[in-house]
Amino acid sequence: MENKIKIVFATGNPHKLQEINEISKGSGIEFILPPEGFDPDENGETFEENSYIKAKEAAVLSKNIALADDSGLCVEALNGNPGIHSARYAATPQARIDKLLMNLAQQTNRRAQFVCVMTLVDKNGKVLTQQKGVCNGVIAKTQSGTNGFGYDPVFVVDGYDITMADMSEDLKNQISHRSRALNKIISYINSTLL
Ligand code: IMP
Repeated sequence: MENKIKIVFATGNPHKLQEINEISKGSGIEFILPPEGFDPDENGETFEENSYIKAKEAAVLSKNIALADDSGLCVEALNGNPGIHSARYAATPQARIDKLLMNLAQQTNRRAQFVCVMTLVDKNGKVLTQQKGVCNGVIAKTQSGTNGFGYDPVFVVDGYDITMADMSEDLKNQISHRSRALNKIISYINSTLL
């Protein structure tokens, strides 16, 4: 059986862990959940700060090398909002979409990008590398699709005429901000740690 390097992925969300392991399959790396009690205070002001806070807490708790991500949707006409507040923009996923569409109702500029910043730290919480992935597109006028999560039903990726929620999981994983950041992290691990 292949001997995989194990890296703690700083999330409490098993679905996110599964997505990360799906993107990295074949890389010789297995991402595992942090120990119980992982509950970082995400009080940073940037994606960079928040992903570092999560990675450091996971590393110190597990005494293991750890990776964290922080992501969100940045909309040009809203001065980059909701940005780091994407998960808390309104109370429910549907309310967040409704609020976004309402705030853009009068806007002709609907350009936006999904951003993901990943931070890899050693077992003491020292930063090894920090990488960013972006996925550019526009916010649709109406929502479509049931795959994915979050703002996927209203995000149309440049070069496609369907929303992210209309894409297969495989296609999203090839082009997403998260896979772009993760592929840079995997290259770093392959060239320096394996
Ligand atoms: P977090 O990085 O898990 O804190 O996610 C931040 C929030 O950004 C999520 O709750 C979603 O609202 C939004 N978001 C991040 N990535 C995606 C994505 O791939 N699709 C849709 N929404 C996303």
